[in-house]
Amino acid sequence: MGILDIAREDGLEPKKVAATKGGEYHSPCPACGGKDRFIIWDKLNRYMCRQCNKKGDEIQYYKDFRGLSYVEACQKIGNELRDNPFVKRGSLQEERLASCFEPRIAKMPSLKWRLAAVSFSQYCYEQLKKTRFALDLFQKRGFSEQTIDQFHLGWNPNTLWLERERWGIGSEGKKLWIPKGLLIPTYDCTTRELVKLKIRRSDWYDGDTLPKYVEISGSMQTPSVYGGAEGKPVFVVESELDAILLQQCAGDLCCSMALGGASKRPDAVAHQLLVNAPAIVFSLDVDHAGALAYRWWRREYPRMKLCPPPIGKSPGDAFLKGIDLKVWIGFVLS
Ligand SMILES: [Zn+2]
Repeated sequence: MGILDIAREDGLEPKKVAATKGGEYHSPCPACGGKDRFIIWDKLNRYMCRQCNKKGDEIQYYKDFRGLSYVEACQKIGNELRDNPFVKRGSLQEERLASCFEPRIAKMPSLKWRLAAVSFSQYCYEQLKKTRFALDLFQKRGFSEQTIDQFHLGWNPNTLWLERERWGIGSEGKKLWIPKGLLIPTYDCTTRELVKLKIRRSDWYDGDTLPKYVEISGSMQTPSVYGGAEGKPVFVVESELDAILLQQCAGDLCCSMALGGASKRPDAVAHQLLVNAPAIVFSLDVDHAGALAYRWWRREYPRMKLCPPPIGKSPGDAFLKGIDLKVWIGFVLS
């Protein structure tokens, strides 16, 4: 059963008014009444009331209009699936069931961690400002001096093995590894606290068994959101540096969300930003992992637009190949 059937069960009598988005139906709103303010997009299995602004998928429908909890709504959809022996494997119903995604609530790092992170980030920022070689690494990827200041990018000149205790993340023998390289901080988009540090290793080589990007232990498990403001379209990309570059080129047009890995999922705050965004653009790296991730994202956020960069593997790559990212973003959002 989709929303259209459920609405009929609730006596709404939705009328088809257009073929847009696979069929648009209008009816009174189950919450605030009226005549035709309640819109159902049948194919998308989404609804929205133009008056009280309630909107969502069928789980949300059950929550909004039948008073079910999230878990009860998922169970109800699951039971319908079991009760109907004609539901084929891999059908839309099954996909909906599989998509009962409940985003995690990411934990803020401890005060001790944040204090250590702030002073380390400041140190790296100062190192960057006086290290021509490191500035060149950023500048040849297109980053301006102003962007380096605005996003407080940095340079860690030496590989460090620190006492974990100093960062408030346990004291057992193991040291905290902070590799040499470009430092990319993430500030929480609501509290503005420094919550994540990532390093793009400068000593990484093709065939290295250790990763090119290293997140410093204890960082908050949340996507990095830059230029985050409600009401802006969200560009979802893989790397933090790409997300920052998009802000440099078109921060007035969109905010950008870096997952920090193709298989990473949004946490509760990021999920809410996506749900409320006027548009979601998906531009993960063009590779196998990106394609796999796309399937998941498409199911969770059906109105998301797939927009790989016009050339290259990622937006940053396209920039290096001469693409004007602002023009591209303007085109994608038009
Ligand atoms: Zn309403």
